[in-house]
Amino acid sequence: MVSVTLDGLTKSFKRSGVVVDHVDLRAEEGEFFTLLGPSGCGKSTTLRMIAGFDEPDSGQIRFNDRDVTYAPVNKRDVGLVFQNYALFPHMSVAKNVGFGLAVRKIRGIDAKKMIQDALAQVNLTKQVDARVDELSGGQQQRVALARALVFRPQLLLLDEPMSNLDAKLRLDMRGALRSLHNETGITSIYVTHDQAEALAMSTRIAVMNTSVVHQVGTPAEVYERPNTRFVAMFLGRNNVFDGTVSAVNGDEVYLRLADGSMLRGSASRTSPGLPLSPGSLIGATIRAEAVQFSTGDQSENLLDGTVSDVEYVGATLSCELETAVGRVLLDLTGAGIRPTLGQRLTVHLSEKSIYFVPAEHTP
Ligand code: ADP
Ligand code: MG
Repeated sequence: MVSVTLDGLTKSFKRSGVVVDHVDLRAEEGEFFTLLGPSGCGKSTTLRMIAGFDEPDSGQIRFNDRDVTYAPVNKRDVGLVFQNYALFPHMSVAKNVGFGLAVRKIRGIDAKKMIQDALAQVNLTKQVDARVDELSGGQQQRVALARALVFRPQLLLLDEPMSNLDAKLRLDMRGALRSLHNETGITSIYVTHDQAEALAMSTRIAVMNTSVVHQVGTPAEVYERPNTRFVAMFLGRNNVFDGTVSAVNGDEVYLRLADGSMLRGSASRTSPGLPLSPGSLIGATIRAEAVQFSTGDQSENLLDGTVSDVEYVGATLSCELETAVGRVLLDLTGAGIRPTLGQRLTVHLSEKSIYFVPAEHTP
């Protein structure tokens, strides 16, 4: 297996300007490494350069110590799975998976063994003779995966491979990809705009926005300790309240919000490099699942509001509260208070759950 290093990778298009801007990343051998970000942020272009379909304007790509920046696609030993899996619908599963083998003149018993191994890895052994158009969408996606694995590549590149599947199949496929990765240990680079997918499958995630990488970390690191306001808001459901630092007392940070109320947080829970002196403008974030009803015995970090929306989604009850400092999202799990529209509520923003990020209009 290989490690993949990107050094100052930069790419622009005439029409779009710079779409990948000095990206430095390293996916270690055997990692399931995800590029996560909104549509248009440069994920696919980055992946296409790793695959060899696009040449960078500058920067370098290395597989282990080998410079592959300008190596042709077929010299990179890479398996590819894309959103449009482009299978031959009238051909059998075996023919589809073996197509590339035939092109490379691998035939007979060798080809048969390689096809069988690849199909076993995606649990499709029984469907070897079925026509592709007889299979379900999820099975077709696994054929595409087997086709990428059949050469036993050193690296697997996947670009939004599940976006054509329905929600239930995506969940199944998530599990299938995770166990495939656990079993093969193949270095994988996965592109998605879906934060839940990224959190569920990745060893580490690079969060991108507008052609740059904001943060690289484990799912827990990017979720719990976001480096930038963008990362904080892109992952999960977060609330943010902008304010002015009014005092810092040891680890305690007091933030004055727009309505004059005060919020207390901890100096140890901030994005790196955040200015924390009186007068600094910063944002306090708290996740929807961390907002709690006031029990009545708290005296600070309280917000009054009116319930303006309630959404029941089975496992959680999502609720929107209009307050003097804006809309607050709450996700409630389990039994307990069931808020109703128009109800007045007081919520508590625990200082243990508050995380400070840069103010709006700063990166
Ligand atoms: P993502 O995969 O994150 O959605 P892409 O890497 O596909 O983003 O695209 C990043 C930006 O580059 C987009 O604005 C897109 O329109 C532009 N882009 C991608 N490919 C080309 C191309 N071949 N020519 C011109 N612009 C392109
Ligand atoms: Mg894309």
